[in-house]
Amino acid sequence: MKESFLCKNPGCNSQELSFRLYDGQQFCNDHYKEIFSAELISLFEGWVETTEPPDRLKYLIGRFYSENETAFIGKPSLTKAIVQKRSYGWKKGKDCAVFSVVRNPVDKRLGYPYCFEDHQTWSFCISGLTFTFLSEERK
Ligand SMILES: [Zn+2]
Repeated sequence: MKESFLCKNPGCNSQELSFRLYDGQQFCNDHYKEIFSAELISLFEGWVETTEPPDRLKYLIGRFYSENETAFIGKPSLTKAIVQKRSYGWKKGKDCAVFSVVRNPVDKRLGYPYCFEDHQTWSFCISGLTFTFLSEERK
């Protein structure tokens, strides 16, 4: 097997032909999930409750959602960009974080019917790496 197709985790002998990139390095699926969730958990645990979560943590939460949850039309869903750029009101509990996002932000100059935003509230729990849609309000 070519060197360029080997998992970057030391000692890994994976023969998988599909690899995933993490910080520009390729890993087999098992090591990708392991490294990804280890950093996610570490950043979550290190996040000081009284502060805004670090950008890297928001990025990883959004990326985790994008890669692991299935979006259906008509069902509330998130994207990496929404979590990263349009989230606010983060509150960290013991196991879960609650946060809000702005969906469909509009240019209010466009006027009716485009002059509203949907604000959704979600929770993300670190123990099961799960997302729960809590509520939506149109503003
Ligand atoms: Zn590996």
